[in-house]
Amino acid sequence: MAYEQALARYEPVLGLETHIELGTASKMFCSCPTAFGAAPNTQVCPVCLALPGSLPVVNEKAVEGAIRLGLALNCSIAPWGRFARKNYFYPDMPKNYQISQYDEPICVDGHLDVTVDTPDGPRVFRVDIERVHMEEDTGKTSHVGGATGRIHGADYSIVDYNRAGIPLLEIVTRPVTGTGDLAPLVARAYAAELRDLVRSLGISDVRMEEGSMRCDVNVSINPRGASEWGTRSETKNVNSLRSVERAVRSEIERQAGVLDAGQKVVQETRHFQENTGRSISGRSKEEAQDYRYFPDPDLVPVAPSEEWVEELRATLPELPAAKRARIRAEWDLTDTELRDLVNADAIDLVAATVAEGAPSAEARKLWLNELSRRATEQEVELAALPITPAQVARVIALVAEGTLTNKLARQVVEGVLAGEGEPDAVVEARGLKVVSDDGALGAAVDEAIAANPDAADKVRGGKVAAAGALVGAVMKATRGQADAGRARELILAKLGAS
Ligand code: ADP
Ligand code: ZN
Ligand code: MG
Repeated sequence: MAYEQALARYEPVLGLETHIELGTASKMFCSCPTAFGAAPNTQVCPVCLALPGSLPVVNEKAVEGAIRLGLALNCSIAPWGRFARKNYFYPDMPKNYQISQYDEPICVDGHLDVTVDTPDGPRVFRVDIERVHMEEDTGKTSHVGGATGRIHGADYSIVDYNRAGIPLLEIVTRPVTGTGDLAPLVARAYAAELRDLVRSLGISDVRMEEGSMRCDVNVSINPRGASEWGTRSETKNVNSLRSVERAVRSEIERQAGVLDAGQKVVQETRHFQENTGRSISGRSKEEAQDYRYFPDPDLVPVAPSEEWVEELRATLPELPAAKRARIRAEWDLTDTELRDLVNADAIDLVAATVAEGAPSAEARKLWLNELSRRATEQEVELAALPITPAQVARVIALVAEGTLTNKLARQVVEGVLAGEGEPDAVVEARGLKVVSDDGALGAAVDEAIAANPDAADKVRGGKVAAAGALVGAVMKATRGQADAGRARELILAKLGAS
């Protein structure tokens, strides 16, 4: 059913469960390294392979990361809690249970405010956080021999346990209501805000496309005015902000179609298909009791002291919302200007460029126009472009001191991105300096006058506007490298019009 039609009759409810892979040096319960990309099964030990008799030990750094995130999300930190065994069979989980937290999570009852742009201006939604808990990742199975890489049709499967035991945090929201047709945007804004928050804490690289942040998106709809929420579905492992938005939207449309046909929405997990923007049915969802949770007897309780929690609170950096407010005031931005910076994920890059001495307006312009365009072209994040804020600041300084025009600056940026070295080296190697010395310019001006006698006569006769054609000819002859202002002065002087 069409989205607008669905929203006219139904009210959506959202819930997001987000997994974040922590960037600790070692795993959650053993000292194996966590570095990505090692040869299969080289970062394993008796603990993460679950060999009989091995005993897990909690990684203090992971607990620290969990507490810092909990504090940043305005949660209460539980003074005492245990890990639980979540029992289920998975070939890439050698213990046949996952160590997680169940009824005693480390952080509870927080909130995160997210801003959504509407035609009537920005709107803030408070997303309540039910819990943040710690758990461990599973290994990775590959299905070999089939055409699709899926288990169906494969000849055999192989398992890599390097990822087994890598620390994860799971952040669970309370049901989010009252978003109406903004539900897809609220879900997206939440994922973006959480990502930025985690990134600011430095506890994970939160790259959705690489799987270090994955969202499970719960959606239900109920007829407008109904007193109860509908049955939800859970779309698993959605791995981009755009997909979070699309998953919510398509699920609202699908469920509205189901209800309108007089059928019931089934509680199930679904899998988002990037290519179609739709999801397909997965398995019908287990209930908590199916997992037979019980406290893990091998692990001591986690009991962070108040002093430790307060010490960690003192390590919190300026959080993204506060930073945005400060930047907005310092750079005197409008709502729209701030939104453009946020949407382009450019605040930190521009701030770093300003810290290197560039005026904020120039820095914003370069990152938001030229560089954002190239990032989009190359389908990479802005921060992944091979140019540093210091280099961008240098290009801006070269324009300010008159060595480069804006047009030449774009060529320098292009050269830096192409790996031709520092901005000054690119200027040198490509010969991009503005031609402003009167000797070189004078020759170009003489040629332009000789080649455009009509325009020259007009200028001599007092029609100064006609000088534009001559300046254009000079710019053309110097391949855009002439100092246009100086060229104009010389033209007017030579034609006796100044
Ligand atoms: P489970 O234990 O099966 O993961 P939870 O009760 O923890 O289920 O809920 C998972 C997520 O779904 C949470 O973010 C929660 O807020 C959300 N949620 C719960 N009920 C609904 C509902 N009716 N519609 C949408 N989301 C819901
Ligand atoms: Zn190990
Ligand atoms: Mg849950």
